[in-house]
Order: sequence, then C-alpha cells, then structure tokens
Amino acid sequence: MTTEATASRPTAASAALFERARAVTPGGVNSPVRAFNAVGGTPRFIRSAAGAWLTDVDGNEYVDLICSWGPMLLGHAHPEVQAAVAAAVARGTSYGTPTEPEVELAEEIVDRAPVEKVRFVSSGTEATMSAIRLARGFTGRDVVVKFAGCYHGHVDSLLASAGSGLATFAVPGTPGVPESSTALTLVLPYNDRAAVERVFVEHGPRIACLITEAAPGNMGVVPPEPGFNAFLAETCRTHGALFVSDEVMTGFRASRHGQWGLDGAVEGWRPDLVTFGKVMGGGFPAAAFGGRADVMSRLSPEGPVYQAGTLSGNPIATTAGLTTLRLATDEVYAHIDAAGETIKAAAVEALSAAGVPHVVQATGTMFSVFFTDPALGAVRDFEDASRTDSTAYAAFFHAMLDRQVYLPPSAYEAWFLSSAHDDRAVQTVLDALPHAARAAAA
Ligand code: PLP
Repeated sequence: MTTEATASRPTAASAALFERARAVTPGGVNSPVRAFNAVGGTPRFIRSAAGAWLTDVDGNEYVDLICSWGPMLLGHAHPEVQAAVAAAVARGTSYGTPTEPEVELAEEIVDRAPVEKVRFVSSGTEATMSAIRLARGFTGRDVVVKFAGCYHGHVDSLLASAGSGLATFAVPGTPGVPESSTALTLVLPYNDRAAVERVFVEHGPRIACLITEAAPGNMGVVPPEPGFNAFLAETCRTHGALFVSDEVMTGFRASRHGQWGLDGAVEGWRPDLVTFGKVMGGGFPAAAFGGRADVMSRLSPEGPVYQAGTLSGNPIATTAGLTTLRLATDEVYAHIDAAGETIKAAAVEALSAAGVPHVVQATGTMFSVFFTDPALGAVRDFEDASRTDSTAYAAFFHAMLDRQVYLPPSAYEAWFLSSAHDDRAVQTVLDALPHAARAAAA
C-alpha cells in the first residue's frame, strides 16, 4: 500500500472498460451518478472491495467514502455477512414462496423503526412508489406533496419540479414523464413551514400524503430544522393526509433507529408510512415500506390496494440485510460517528487553511461538505444547496482521488463511512484533505 501523493495513478484498464461500456450502455454506467459527468474524467471500475477499501481494475486502492451510496454500514465483504450469504446461496437463490428470513428481517425492522408491518420490495424506488399508491388507496385522495431537492427514486410522479407558484401543481422534472403524472404533485421548499401550511389550506381535502426524506441527503445533508418533521406529521394528521417518511438513505444509518431515532423517538411522534432501502439490504437489492397496521392492511392480499414483486423478500437479500442489522450494534454507530467527527474536523481545518468557503452539515452519522459561502448561513433547502461551487468540488474530488480517497463524484451527496473505517483508512483521508483543499482553492 502506498500513500504518497501522485496525480499519475494508472487508469488505462478503467478507461478501456469505460469505452467498452459506453458502446453498450448509455453513458457507460447503470446509474447516472456513477459517471463522472459532474466532476469530469473516467469513473474507476472497481474489481473488489474489502473493509473500507476499494480496488480498481488498474490495481489502485481507495478509501471508500461512497459505501455503495449508503448500504455498506459494516464495510465491504464483512466475514459474517459473507458467510450467511454463502450459506443462503447454498440453499437456493429464489423460491417465490414465503421464507423464514423475510419474517426475521420484518421483525427486526418493526423492532427498530416506527412501523407495525412491512412489505419487502427490491429497490427504494419501488418502496416510495408503493407507499404513495397505498396512501392514495387508503385515503381515497390523489394529491401528493413533496419537497424540492428530496429524491425518492425515479418514480414518475416524484420526478417533479415546482410549478410557477408555491401552491400550483408540478411540472415533469425529466423528459419522458407526462404532465399528467406530475399534475397531482405539489413541490415545496424544504424546511418552509409557511409553504406547507399554505398548500394544506388550499388543497388539504385532496392531499393523500406528504412524502419527505426523513433528513434530506440527496442535496447534500440538509437536516430538518428542530421540530420540522413533528410539524409535518401534525399537519398531515390535522388534514387527514398520511405522513410518509422516506428513510431509504437515513434508515439504520443516521442512527440505529434512523432519522426517526434522532427526532421522532425524542419528540414523541410517528410517521404513518416509512420507506426503507440501502442498509437493510446489506449490499443486495432489498427495500421495504411499512407503517401503521391499519394502513398496511389495505395492501393486497389483505386489502384491495395491489402491489407485488417476483423477487420481493428474496432469501439472499433478506439474509444479507438481517445479518447486517443484527451486527449493527450501538458500537458500530459510535465508531462511525467518531470517524465522521474526525474527518469533518479535518475537512473544516483544511478548507479554512486554504481559504475555501464551506459549510459542513450532519444528521446523526451522516454528513456532507458544501462548497458554499458560510456567510449566507446554513444550507436549509435546495436553493441554498444549489449555490455549491461545483468547479471547486471537482478539483477537490480529483485531488482526493489521486490520494486514494473515493468521494461521491457529485457535490450534492453525503459522505458515507462504515464500521470498517479504521485508523489507517481515516488517516489516509486526513492526509489527503489539505492537498485537496489547496486544489479547490486554485
Ligand atoms: N429514497 C431515497 C431517500 C434515496 O436516497 C434513494 C436512492 O438514493 C431512493 C429513495 C431510491 O432508492 P433506489 O435507488 O434503491 O431505487
């Protein structure tokens, strides 16, 4: 392992694979943010990973601050998760019947999160899509409220941009989404109570649900202001709408009990529906939505709202998720928290020394670094987040990569750590930060 700085790491094998990939896959990647479009250059093709480290096809090693965009809470190739998965594979990979690991994982989730029943699906997108269908089916209403900058997967009705006024319906956020799909979606600025009150006054009797990231992580980490989630829950209750808390990213990561463990459990409120993904799949395609028993009982086959999936509750994925959650003890969260504190402090020191304007924000163990002017205050919503200096971030990102740290290739993402980020991995990040901060200042 070498830790000396070099801007000339070999990338020929990644570049060759990227060229082949682009010939057969749009943009050469199977999810857009994996491409380096926001920072420039060639994405590294990863051959293997262990603990906190990734190894690419050219043999370069990197400390991983992406962690598969959240799932790898215990680091890569955790021996106990690997063993449980290998044993599950040996028993067959999918039966299309109910299995014991599904029951055990559902019990584990019900134990940790504010839900009474859960239904498994294969991606966070499916979870939010299904939760919205269920909210509409339960309430008999059709309007959905969401916040700008909150990402809930690529669900048509949620790929929506704000209309011309706060209380006007949304417009498609991407070609391919028909206007009819977003015509029942209202998009509001995050952390804005007045905007929420206004749309509920105007459209209350038609609103089926309000969906929000429990703490947004998809515009960088933008914590809910104190009491904001409680206010949303109460507003929904008053108007007979359901409060859908999207914990796909924060669930079992921001804390043992997700974002809800940081606010709901303390303030004494519960969401009506919650969506989960990432950590609960232990690195496999598994996600879920859950909530109040009376709402969940409206789902097929118990109730009339249809929802299904060939690979839902797959035995390999549920085994990986169950093993991961059982290993995700308080010590795991304490470790990630401590490593995060060290990295945040070093990032602040390095960026300050280099004179790079920045704002660091966190919720529980999740944090991100905004390349924005602190004189403008905290980043409270998408408009604030959009002020990020993405050119400075691109320089910072590449300097980190040159020094063996793989950050998210986008300025609008959380930096993810795992319990496998030990002293050596953290030190590699600390050593890289001053160089990267100077690159960002240049
Ligand atoms: N909801 C949130 C908060 C997410 O962060 C994501 C993905 O990043 C999703 C939903 C969609 O999950 P998936 O990518 O598994 O479809």
